Amino acid sequence: MIIVIKQGSPAEEVRQFAKTFEEKGVQVHFSEGATQTVLGLVGDAAGIDAEALVANHLVEKVVRVQEPYKRANRKFHPDDTCVRVSASTYGERRVGAGHFSVIAGPCSVESHEQILDIAESVKKSGAGFLRGGAFKPRTSPYSFQGLGANGLELLLEAKKQTGLPIVTEIMDLSQLYLFGDVDVIQVGARNMQNFTLLKELGRCGKPILLKRGLSATVSELLMSAEYVMAGGNEDVILCERGIRTFETYTRNTLDISAISALQRQSHLPVVVDPSHAAGLSWMVESLSKAAVAAGADGLIVEVHNNPEKALSDGEQSLTPSAFAGLMQTLKKYVELEGKSFACGK
Ligand code: PEP
Ligand code: MN
Repeated sequence: MIIVIKQGSPAEEVRQFAKTFEEKGVQVHFSEGATQTVLGLVGDAAGIDAEALVANHLVEKVVRVQEPYKRANRKFHPDDTCVRVSASTYGERRVGAGHFSVIAGPCSVESHEQILDIAESVKKSGAGFLRGGAFKPRTSPYSFQGLGANGLELLLEAKKQTGLPIVTEIMDLSQLYLFGDVDVIQVGARNMQNFTLLKELGRCGKPILLKRGLSATVSELLMSAEYVMAGGNEDVILCERGIRTFETYTRNTLDISAISALQRQSHLPVVVDPSHAAGLSWMVESLSKAAVAAGADGLIVEVHNNPEKALSDGEQSLTPSAFAGLMQTLKKYVELEGKSFACGK
């Protein structure tokens, strides 16, 4: 249930009013927007009489929320959320609420030379974040599994050298202690419904990039975001990365409509991964443009300095110069959408 508070209501009275629900064991989520204050009630609100509430002088209106996700729901938080990522080494990066950001880097961290070289080049082209997998979820157990803890060390070195905040995937809770200096923790498609992991990430105090599962619906993705948010972590960035369909030409099918659906249902920022969606480097630019035009808040793009020799996902990786070209093109598209093109330079 959400309660929209009348404009100009005294803050202390609203606080006392909220307390009456908390005393009934219902949690109250406050959303103070530019023009509206909204109280979102989470928990068993069955015993609350909506009609009686409408009569209260503080109340503008009462709406029952049908969807099972509450904190991720736009009804609870009408304004777009801007996820802020900050550290003393690089200042603040913003994703969402009019701020467009590009996360770029290799599928996997492979060597010192590889990650530093790519980090320097994507930074020059204007990427806001460096991506790179240290723990890799591979379909075959015989494929390269990532450099693990050493890969994380290399990413941190690249962060130190370039000042780019890093985004990297966690596969298991047992790895969390290694993620202390990681800026954004990625939850991969295969782990979108690893509820134990999501619950713990709700308490980790770091922004989470949550990728849509291979066959997950929009509402399942939002329920997974809710798991993280229910633990007190509101900094969730959703990622559409293509879903399984009958089509085999592309690795997955980019679900452009999910961008609009997610943004209608939720206030959380939505970024698009055209690389895993297409599986083909030559298609990344057109899918990126489509994502921007559909309202995405950012992109995550795979870039490799030698795609032919990449240890994972070479066919879908852009060369540094192709990425530079993509960024030039995208800038115009992002500005047409009225968003700021956050630049890592
Ligand atoms: C990745 O980002 O390299 C990755 C494994 O992505 P996904 O979880 O979307 O397959
Ligand atoms: Mn990959």
